[in-house]
Amino acid sequence: MSHIQSPKGTFDILPGALAEEPWQSSQLWKQVEDLVHEQCRRACIHEIRMPIFESTELFQKSTGESSDIVQKEMYTFDDKGDRSMTLRPEGTPGALRALIDANAFQKQSVNRVYYLGPMFRYERPQQGRYRQFHQFGIEILGPRSPWLDAEAISLGWNILSALGLQETELLINTLASDATRRTYQSALKDFLMSQESSLSEDSKRRLHTNPLRILDSKDAADRAIITGAPKLSQMLDDDSKRFFDQVLELLERACIRYTIDDKLVRGLDYYCDTVFEFQIKTIGAQSAVGGGGRYGRMLSEMGGPSLEGVGFACGMERLLQATLQAGQFSKPSSNCHCFMIALGHGAATTLFALINEGRQQNLCLEGWPSQDPKKLKQALQYADKLGARYVAILGDEELANGQVKLRHMGTREEISLPLAGLIEYLKRGL
Ligand code: AMP
Repeated sequence: MSHIQSPKGTFDILPGALAEEPWQSSQLWKQVEDLVHEQCRRACIHEIRMPIFESTELFQKSTGESSDIVQKEMYTFDDKGDRSMTLRPEGTPGALRALIDANAFQKQSVNRVYYLGPMFRYERPQQGRYRQFHQFGIEILGPRSPWLDAEAISLGWNILSALGLQETELLINTLASDATRRTYQSALKDFLMSQESSLSEDSKRRLHTNPLRILDSKDAADRAIITGAPKLSQMLDDDSKRFFDQVLELLERACIRYTIDDKLVRGLDYYCDTVFEFQIKTIGAQSAVGGGGRYGRMLSEMGGPSLEGVGFACGMERLLQATLQAGQFSKPSSNCHCFMIALGHGAATTLFALINEGRQQNLCLEGWPSQDPKKLKQALQYADKLGARYVAILGDEELANGQVKLRHMGTREEISLPLAGLIEYLKRGL
């Protein structure tokens, strides 16, 4: 059988020594994932794990029919029972569905959850954009309150800061209440209709599906037209303005720097009031590492209570790439305490049992039986590459004397010690 390639837009996360790009090293993924879990633990946010596929209808109804995701990016298939299923393109709809199913809202008035895992979107692959990618995201569901928006933003900010991403820029905007946004949308549409022929093809389409999205078009001609467009900030109702001002005040009190960007609208249909994005310009064209906002009606439209939600998601790939670029995580080092080499059959059986015992006592041990003493040099080179702290060598001669040779790979110093004391000796150095 000829070699089968991995699907376009996917990548493997591999042991560091095998990863072509440093950000694909599984050790780095683990470090960043651990940091996310730890930051969420500190904020008393609990993890939620949803299925990777859900009914297609869930995304059509919540992510929204006019969003790019639903229109052209979903991996949808019929299962063997002829039900339409979709590989999750984002986490929010599944998280809300799971909370509703678990009656979470009858148990407490504010629910805070986070998730971490793969998402799937049929997009044009490029640096920082994949068809299977990973997000961690936080959702806070509760009564409408600026506190919760500021809390969600601060959690994202803290995680990015803990990763050492000092260059992060927080862009923030308000999409106001549904009523105000509708009035604005029609004013914007009228304005854009008068310029329709000069708009890009994408924007011409969006004019009829979601004119707000034209505000964040990257097309130069669109951008020139948008400069003259009416601004939502000039049409804000009192309540939306007060709400937004309170979010900003809370951020300021927590020393979180932000920039108001009135063109920031985000791509999903469900946002209202606060929307925000974390950007790191130095990582290239795909500079958005995360983003989110408040969703007003989604929970009630999905059959939940009339509470609101606010949340965000960050792309793990871009986070890892940015973290490495910022020099925060160096090349992953090995955690191997001792690489054990057995020369000969008797030595191999003894060492096998010893390695097993050592692992049960928290030591990180690797080893193999080498039948050919001439291969010892090769084994030492491998242990060096692995970054093992020690190498233990057990030949039949040492075995007969109840001794083992132990080499410190840093100092190259070699000692001989009783085999029975090896595990204790290694444990002392932990
Ligand atoms: P979104 O769910 O579209 O708001 O995206 C939130 C974050 O997920 C973005 O800021 C990116 O960091 C990441 N992201 C979204 N789509 C992709 C993708 N196709 N490949 C890699 N990361 C992505």
